[in-house]
Amino acid sequence: MGIAEDEIKKLENGNCAENSVFFQAMEEVIYSIAPLLESDDKYKRHAVLERLVVPDRIIKFKVTWMDDKQQIQVNTGFRVQFNNALGPYKGGLRFHPSVNEGILKFLGFEQILKNALTGLPIGGAKGGSDFDPKGKSDFEVMKFCSSFMTELHKYIGARIDIPAGDIGVGAREIGYLFGEYKKITSTYEGVLTGKPFMFGGSLMRPEATGYGAVYFTETMLELEGKEPLAGKICTVSGAGNVALHAIEKLQHLGAIPVSCTDSKGTIYDARGVDLALLKDLKLEKRASLEEYIKGHPEAKYIPVEEYPEGAHAVWDIPCYAAFPCATQNELTDIDAQNLIVNGVVSVTEGANMPSTPKAIDDFLSHKICFGPAKAANAGGVAVSEFEMAQNASMSKWSFEKVDEKLKETMQQIAKWVALTAKDYGVEGNYVDGANIAGFKKVADAMIAEGI
Ligand code: NDP
Repeated sequence: MGIAEDEIKKLENGNCAENSVFFQAMEEVIYSIAPLLESDDKYKRHAVLERLVVPDRIIKFKVTWMDDKQQIQVNTGFRVQFNNALGPYKGGLRFHPSVNEGILKFLGFEQILKNALTGLPIGGAKGGSDFDPKGKSDFEVMKFCSSFMTELHKYIGARIDIPAGDIGVGAREIGYLFGEYKKITSTYEGVLTGKPFMFGGSLMRPEATGYGAVYFTETMLELEGKEPLAGKICTVSGAGNVALHAIEKLQHLGAIPVSCTDSKGTIYDARGVDLALLKDLKLEKRASLEEYIKGHPEAKYIPVEEYPEGAHAVWDIPCYAAFPCATQNELTDIDAQNLIVNGVVSVTEGANMPSTPKAIDDFLSHKICFGPAKAANAGGVAVSEFEMAQNASMSKWSFEKVDEKLKETMQQIAKWVALTAKDYGVEGNYVDGANIAGFKKVADAMIAEGI
């Protein structure tokens, strides 16, 4: 039995259906870091892995709120404070009916290594609720956020734990959460990031994850001797914060993003996505993507149910570069095969863990440039840390300054990951490179801080 199998066996006890995505994330890391564990026995001696895979604490609480019909509603709230070896806990809040402890453990675990890769002083956490903001009035969202913060405020602070947004949590939700925190604590501090600019948000925070994923891809393509994105057809999934801004940056660079998706279907617009229309539909009207074809009848709308089980229309579109930016496990091995047959050159994960393990194996074995989430989508948390720095010094950085620092950060991450992969004998494998580099940084800090 190899060192990776040995470690996985030890950790199998907590494996249940709810924890399946957490184990998926953990297994990938354990296989990747086997060469590091073999090269230096201090990680085993200090039981770093066993300590790292258990969150410091999981806070679970009831959230009661009154809807517009004066009915009392009950949801569950969570905060998983995973690891603070490198800095205060940091990670987003997700509001989606699928949220449970296992999903937040997977996201929090990924966040530890992602945050380490930014080179910035931040630990890893994640939180959220099974509350669904979709279809709720602004007032209902506000009531929910207030009630959620009534409990959460006890556990967070500008130097303790700094939540941000994620699926279902954008500037509106962060605004309500911040307002409630301020009211309860009488403290005006940078306790949340992703705040609207008018009260402490950083310029470019909304753009950061999507832009960052594209900057990462440009560097990865250059390092791997491939052509840049200009003039190339790209496919993007999702139609939220990450996807919209990946599309925007691709357009800035002269690439042609031709797709987007939501949970109900895919838009394929061969002439290039109309971003202004898409933003209007998703950010202003919060409408279904189906509405897109009213403005562009020549584009195709493909409902989810029209595609075979286990496959997704968006990954069947020939492209040079693919950007999964919606949600976990949205790109399967069938999708990977379709992309490979159609000649894809690079795949970059804008979402967290959007590709299944089998899909990743297929990309790597076919020498497709593959940018894993924890490296490629770290731009969001990097700019969140820039927001913390601006709040702490009561200053405001220009758009250009944030953009420059974001680009520099993404380039550094790509180079560091590529170099680490080479050092550990897996050149070109950015998955192993990211896992080893991130783990080593956190593990060395944990050892230095004692038990
Ligand atoms: P948003 O809520 O803004 O958008 C999510 C998008 O994905 C929506 O268009 C949504 O469609 C779609 N989607 C959700 N579930 C599915 C599904 N099962 N099938 C197809 N489409 C789906 O979230 P973000 O853009 O902020 O986040 C997207 C991903 O990026 C997540 O994995 C998140 O964890 C990750 N991420 C986000 C960061 C950020 O800065 N926001 C930072 C780093 C990672 P619909 O509206 O129909 O639900």
